[in-house]
Amino acid sequence: MRENRFGAKSKVGGMREQVLQRWILASHNLHKAEELRQMLGPYRVELMTLAQLQITEVPDETGNTFRENALIKAQAAYAASNLPALADDSGLEVEALNGLPGVHSARFAGPKATDVENVQLLLKRLTNQVNRRARFVCVLCLWNGKEATYWEGRVEGKILEYPRGYHGFGYDPVFEAQEIPGRSLAEIDPAKKNEISHRAAAVQSMLASLIAI
Ligand code: IMP
Repeated sequence: MRENRFGAKSKVGGMREQVLQRWILASHNLHKAEELRQMLGPYRVELMTLAQLQITEVPDETGNTFRENALIKAQAAYAASNLPALADDSGLEVEALNGLPGVHSARFAGPKATDVENVQLLLKRLTNQVNRRARFVCVLCLWNGKEATYWEGRVEGKILEYPRGYHGFGYDPVFEAQEIPGRSLAEIDPAKKNEISHRAAAVQSMLASLIAI
């Protein structure tokens, strides 16, 4: 037996079916947990939730980057559970705003801002701006108590002049993905959005490295 770099035991040269590991997901979002659990199923990773272990603390996201915030969340979950901890952090980066709202995406218009208020502020800041290039970014971080492993996913696109559509959340109504021109992310089938999303890209990148274990 040898220890893989995520802290789990596997047989030397073994098949991925022989890798057995238990991780905790550093998120209180049960929907995210269920989705990830299904995706991790074939990789024999058992994903525990904070709720299952009765962990209620939520660390302050004081980082300046998605990586720093994901690491803060993963390390807090590891400290509370002693299990390898997986955390994600995501947001919108707008080129003409030097990457803002970035890690401030959820609170761009203030500490208790709604999605509508955040979108309104974004459109105001981009008034008369010709460069509307933007991207959604998602960073996943796995902390095993010694080292962090990161995976990243992106969706490139642009910010529309006005909100369009009713699906999704956050900045979806004003974001048009390069891959799906002519519609905002809030105008496309949510299943389709989930296929092309920054989160899906980050998870796919993580799954690809799990196969290599
Ligand atoms: P979180 O890290 O997943 O909680 O995302 C932080 C913030 O980024 C959210 O509150 C949204 O404002 C924005 N955001 C992240 N992902 C998306 C997305 O897929 N669509 C729209 N907004 C998003």
